[in-house]
Amino acid sequence: MRILVIEDEPQLARHVTRALERANHLVRALHDGAEGLQAALTDPPDLIVLDLNLPGLDGLGVLAKLRAAASPARVLILTARGEVEHRVRGLKAGADDYLAKPFSLDELVARIEALGRRGATPTAADLLKVGDLHMDVQHRRIMRGGRPVALSPREFDVLQVLMQEPGRVFSRTELCERVWQRDHEYDTRTVEIFIARLRKKVDSGAAAPLIHTVRTVGYTVRPPL
Ligand code: CA
Repeated sequence: MRILVIEDEPQLARHVTRALERANHLVRALHDGAEGLQAALTDPPDLIVLDLNLPGLDGLGVLAKLRAAASPARVLILTARGEVEHRVRGLKAGADDYLAKPFSLDELVARIEALGRRGATPTAADLLKVGDLHMDVQHRRIMRGGRPVALSPREFDVLQVLMQEPGRVFSRTELCERVWQRDHEYDTRTVEIFIARLRKKVDSGAAAPLIHTVRTVGYTVRPPL
Protein backbone atom coordinates (compact mmCIF):
# COMPACT_ATOMS: atom_id res chain seq x y z
CA MET A 1 0.00 0.00 0.00
CA ARG A 2 0.99 3.62 -0.43
CA ILE A 3 1.02 5.11 3.04
CA LEU A 4 1.39 8.72 4.14
CA VAL A 5 2.60 9.24 7.70
CA ILE A 6 1.83 12.65 9.22
CA GLU A 7 3.67 12.81 12.55
CA ASP A 8 5.67 15.70 13.93
CA GLU A 9 7.97 13.71 16.23
CA PRO A 10 10.86 12.89 13.86
CA GLN A 11 12.04 9.84 15.74
CA LEU A 12 8.59 8.26 15.92
CA ALA A 13 7.96 9.10 12.26
CA ARG A 14 11.25 7.39 11.38
CA HIS A 15 10.45 4.23 13.37
CA VAL A 16 6.97 4.02 11.87
CA THR A 17 8.33 4.54 8.36
CA ARG A 18 10.94 1.81 8.77
CA ALA A 19 8.47 -0.69 10.22
CA LEU A 20 6.02 -0.10 7.37
CA GLU A 21 8.75 -0.31 4.74
CA ARG A 22 9.88 -3.61 6.21
CA ALA A 23 6.29 -4.80 5.71
CA ASN A 24 6.66 -3.85 2.01
CA HIS A 25 4.65 -0.64 1.99
CA LEU A 26 5.62 2.50 0.14
CA VAL A 27 5.89 5.20 2.77
CA ARG A 28 6.17 8.96 2.75
CA ALA A 29 6.50 10.84 6.04
CA LEU A 30 5.67 14.51 6.63
CA HIS A 31 5.92 16.39 9.88
CA ASP A 32 3.38 19.13 9.47
CA GLY A 33 -0.43 19.06 9.22
CA ALA A 34 -0.83 21.55 6.37
CA GLU A 35 1.92 19.92 4.32
CA GLY A 36 0.47 16.47 5.00
CA LEU A 37 -2.98 17.55 3.91
CA GLN A 38 -1.59 19.06 0.72
CA ALA A 39 0.25 15.82 -0.09
CA ALA A 40 -2.81 13.70 0.70
CA LEU A 41 -4.97 15.75 -1.65
CA THR A 42 -2.56 16.09 -4.55
CA ASP A 43 -1.23 12.53 -4.54
CA PRO A 44 -3.80 10.45 -2.63
CA PRO A 45 -2.29 7.53 -0.70
CA ASP A 46 -4.20 4.34 0.15
CA LEU A 47 -3.83 4.98 3.84
CA ILE A 48 -2.83 7.80 6.16
CA VAL A 49 -1.30 7.43 9.61
CA LEU A 50 -2.29 10.70 11.21
CA ASP A 51 -1.06 12.05 14.52
CA LEU A 52 -3.78 14.18 16.11
CA ASN A 53 -1.46 16.47 18.02
CA LEU A 54 0.38 18.40 15.29
CA PRO A 55 1.67 21.95 15.14
CA GLY A 56 -0.22 24.33 12.85
CA LEU A 57 -3.16 22.47 11.37
CA ASP A 58 -3.84 19.64 13.84
CA GLY A 59 -4.91 16.10 12.99
CA LEU A 60 -8.63 16.78 13.45
CA GLY A 61 -8.35 19.72 11.04
CA VAL A 62 -6.55 17.55 8.49
CA LEU A 63 -9.18 14.84 8.87
CA ALA A 64 -12.09 17.24 8.45
CA LYS A 65 -10.59 18.69 5.28
CA LEU A 66 -9.81 15.24 3.87
CA ARG A 67 -13.34 14.02 4.41
CA ALA A 68 -14.83 17.26 3.09
CA ALA A 69 -12.80 16.67 -0.07
CA ALA A 70 -14.20 13.09 -0.20
CA SER A 71 -10.71 11.60 0.06
CA PRO A 72 -10.96 7.82 -0.28
CA ALA A 73 -7.88 7.23 1.89
CA ARG A 74 -8.26 5.13 5.00
CA VAL A 75 -7.14 6.99 8.08
CA LEU A 76 -5.59 5.59 11.26
CA ILE A 77 -5.24 8.25 13.93
CA LEU A 78 -2.57 8.25 16.63
CA THR A 79 -3.82 9.57 19.96
CA ALA A 80 -2.08 10.34 23.22
CA ARG A 81 -2.66 7.76 25.91
CA GLY A 82 -5.78 8.28 27.96
CA GLU A 83 -7.19 10.98 25.75
CA VAL A 84 -10.47 9.23 25.12
CA GLU A 85 -12.17 12.41 23.99
CA HIS A 86 -9.62 12.91 21.21
CA ARG A 87 -10.21 9.41 19.97
CA VAL A 88 -13.98 9.91 20.02
CA ARG A 89 -13.66 13.20 18.18
CA GLY A 90 -11.32 11.66 15.63
CA LEU A 91 -13.70 8.79 14.91
CA LYS A 92 -16.61 11.20 14.64
CA ALA A 93 -14.60 13.31 12.20
CA GLY A 94 -14.12 10.36 9.87
CA ALA A 95 -11.13 8.30 11.05
CA ASP A 96 -11.33 4.57 10.32
CA ASP A 97 -9.34 3.33 13.30
CA TYR A 98 -7.12 4.64 16.06
CA LEU A 99 -4.06 3.62 18.02
CA ALA A 100 -3.13 5.10 21.39
CA LYS A 101 0.49 6.08 22.07
CA PRO A 102 2.69 4.42 23.06
CA PHE A 103 2.09 1.49 20.72
CA SER A 104 4.25 -1.34 19.47
CA LEU A 105 5.31 -1.20 15.84
CA ASP A 106 3.99 -4.74 15.37
CA GLU A 107 0.58 -3.59 16.53
CA LEU A 108 0.71 -0.65 14.13
CA VAL A 109 1.60 -2.86 11.17
CA ALA A 110 -1.15 -5.35 12.08
CA ARG A 111 -3.75 -2.58 12.32
CA ILE A 112 -2.69 -1.11 9.02
CA GLU A 113 -2.88 -4.45 7.30
CA ALA A 114 -6.36 -5.05 8.70
CA LEU A 115 -7.41 -1.59 7.50
CA GLY A 116 -5.96 -2.25 4.06
CA ARG A 117 -8.04 -5.34 3.49
CA ARG A 118 -10.90 -4.16 1.41
CA GLY A 119 -14.42 -5.18 2.23
CA ALA A 120 -15.53 -7.13 5.25
CA THR A 121 -15.95 -10.51 3.54
CA PRO A 122 -14.12 -11.41 0.35
CA THR A 123 -16.89 -13.74 -0.84
CA ALA A 124 -19.58 -11.06 -0.54
CA ALA A 125 -22.10 -10.76 -3.33
CA ASP A 126 -21.31 -7.78 -5.51
CA LEU A 127 -24.65 -6.01 -5.33
CA LEU A 128 -26.56 -5.70 -2.08
CA LYS A 129 -29.99 -4.17 -1.69
CA VAL A 130 -32.14 -3.31 1.32
CA GLY A 131 -35.26 -1.24 0.55
CA ASP A 132 -34.10 1.64 -1.64
CA LEU A 133 -30.51 1.32 -0.40
CA HIS A 134 -28.14 -0.20 -2.95
CA MET A 135 -24.52 -1.18 -2.43
CA ASP A 136 -22.08 -2.01 -5.21
CA VAL A 137 -19.42 -3.84 -3.24
CA GLN A 138 -16.86 -4.10 -6.00
CA HIS A 139 -16.93 -0.42 -6.89
CA ARG A 140 -17.55 0.67 -3.30
CA ARG A 141 -20.61 2.70 -4.25
CA ILE A 142 -23.78 3.36 -2.28
CA MET A 143 -27.09 4.78 -3.50
CA ARG A 144 -30.08 5.66 -1.34
CA GLY A 145 -33.29 6.34 -3.27
CA GLY A 146 -31.24 6.88 -6.44
CA ARG A 147 -28.89 9.39 -4.82
CA PRO A 148 -25.22 8.59 -4.18
CA VAL A 149 -24.09 8.46 -0.55
CA ALA A 150 -20.44 9.20 0.23
CA LEU A 151 -19.08 6.93 2.97
CA SER A 152 -15.63 6.63 4.47
CA PRO A 153 -14.03 3.20 3.93
CA ARG A 154 -14.81 1.98 7.45
CA GLU A 155 -18.38 3.27 7.32
CA PHE A 156 -18.73 1.29 4.12
CA ASP A 157 -17.38 -1.85 5.83
CA VAL A 158 -19.82 -1.56 8.75
CA LEU A 159 -22.76 -1.07 6.40
CA GLN A 160 -21.61 -3.95 4.22
CA VAL A 161 -21.63 -6.38 7.16
CA LEU A 162 -25.16 -5.26 8.08
CA MET A 163 -26.47 -5.33 4.50
CA GLN A 164 -25.15 -8.81 3.82
CA GLU A 165 -27.72 -10.19 6.23
CA PRO A 166 -30.71 -7.85 6.34
CA GLY A 167 -32.83 -8.35 9.43
CA ARG A 168 -30.10 -10.13 11.35
CA VAL A 169 -29.15 -8.34 14.56
CA PHE A 170 -25.42 -7.84 15.06
CA SER A 171 -24.08 -7.18 18.53
CA ARG A 172 -21.57 -4.36 18.93
CA THR A 173 -18.89 -6.94 19.71
CA GLU A 174 -19.59 -8.91 16.57
CA LEU A 175 -19.54 -5.80 14.39
CA CYS A 176 -16.24 -4.84 15.98
CA GLU A 177 -14.79 -8.26 15.25
CA ARG A 178 -16.07 -8.38 11.69
CA VAL A 179 -14.98 -4.89 10.72
CA TRP A 180 -11.93 -4.08 12.82
CA GLN A 181 -10.72 -7.68 13.11
CA ARG A 182 -9.48 -7.06 16.58
CA ASP A 183 -9.29 -9.82 19.08
CA HIS A 184 -8.86 -7.55 22.05
CA GLU A 185 -10.51 -4.56 23.60
CA TYR A 186 -13.95 -4.66 22.06
CA ASP A 187 -14.73 -1.03 21.88
CA THR A 188 -18.47 -0.62 21.76
CA ARG A 189 -18.21 3.17 21.73
CA THR A 190 -16.42 3.03 18.38
CA VAL A 191 -19.24 0.97 16.92
CA GLU A 192 -21.81 3.42 18.30
CA ILE A 193 -20.02 6.33 16.66
CA PHE A 194 -19.92 4.57 13.30
CA ILE A 195 -23.62 3.71 13.49
CA ALA A 196 -24.39 7.37 14.27
CA ARG A 197 -22.29 8.45 11.29
CA LEU A 198 -24.07 5.97 9.01
CA ARG A 199 -27.50 7.06 10.23
CA LYS A 200 -26.66 10.63 9.40
CA LYS A 201 -25.55 9.76 5.90
CA VAL A 202 -27.93 6.96 4.99
CA ASP A 203 -31.14 7.59 6.91
CA SER A 204 -31.42 11.30 7.58
CA GLY A 205 -33.89 12.88 5.21
CA ALA A 206 -35.20 9.50 4.02
CA ALA A 207 -38.88 8.57 4.33
CA ALA A 208 -38.17 5.56 6.55
CA PRO A 209 -35.02 4.58 8.45
CA LEU A 210 -33.23 1.37 7.46
CA ILE A 211 -30.71 1.21 10.30
CA HIS A 212 -32.32 0.06 13.53
CA THR A 213 -31.12 -0.30 17.10
CA VAL A 214 -32.37 -3.41 18.85
CA ARG A 215 -32.28 -2.53 22.51
CA THR A 216 -29.57 -4.27 24.56
CA VAL A 217 -28.72 -6.50 21.58
CA GLY A 218 -27.23 -4.45 18.77
CA TYR A 219 -28.00 -3.19 15.29
CA THR A 220 -29.72 -4.37 12.14
CA VAL A 221 -30.51 -3.10 8.68
CA ARG A 222 -33.91 -3.99 7.32
CA PRO A 223 -36.38 -2.65 4.78
CA PRO A 224 -39.41 -0.69 6.03
CA LEU A 225 -42.32 -2.95 7.00
CA1 CA B 1 2.55 14.98 17.88
